[in-house]
Amino acid sequence: MKNEYLTKNPNQTKKIGEVLAKKILKTHLRKGAFIIGLEGDLGGGKTTFLQGFARGLGIKEKILSPTFVIMKKFKIRVDSCSNSRRFVYFYHIDCYRIQKPKEILDLGFREIISSPKNIVAVEWSDRIRKILPRGILILKFEFIDKNKRRVKCTG
Ligand code: ADP
Ligand code: MG
Repeated sequence: MKNEYLTKNPNQTKKIGEVLAKKILKTHLRKGAFIIGLEGDLGGGKTTFLQGFARGLGIKEKILSPTFVIMKKFKIRVDSCSNSRRFVYFYHIDCYRIQKPKEILDLGFREIISSPKNIVAVEWSDRIRKILPRGILILKFEFIDKNKRRVKCTG
């Protein structure tokens, strides 16, 4: 993944998500889940990015801003050839409304991130930094104007 992208519409942002998802499916096996954190402006495109990301994982259900649910679990549906690491589930977590990291721990977070079967995307990951492993991929979303967004990649 490049360090920085400037996108001009939601579809471009989705496309970056889709490409990243397909790359992650090809990564080598490691200890725990593959975790990405999404940070930055409200309306910056984090959920939009994850809609494309989920498409890259063969997920057909809609990815929404989880207003009432903090966490949603999806089954990854791609052929075993493109999913050599055999990921099984995609977890979409949104920390926008939480008061403290314990609310995420209470959902079984430690177990979820310890399984190499899982891909976990956390919106507003800066709010639970204390309970996240170090060195995970962090994407920062910046609102530039009505249709322009900057996506920066760190870690
Ligand atoms: P967040 O999850 O970061 O709060 P959302 O993805 O929910 O942001 O919202 C982004 C909003 O901005 C959506 O309504 C989307 O259609 C709009 N938008 C306009 N241009 C872009 C762009 N280039 N990338 C992503 N979203 C965009
Ligand atoms: Mg969102």
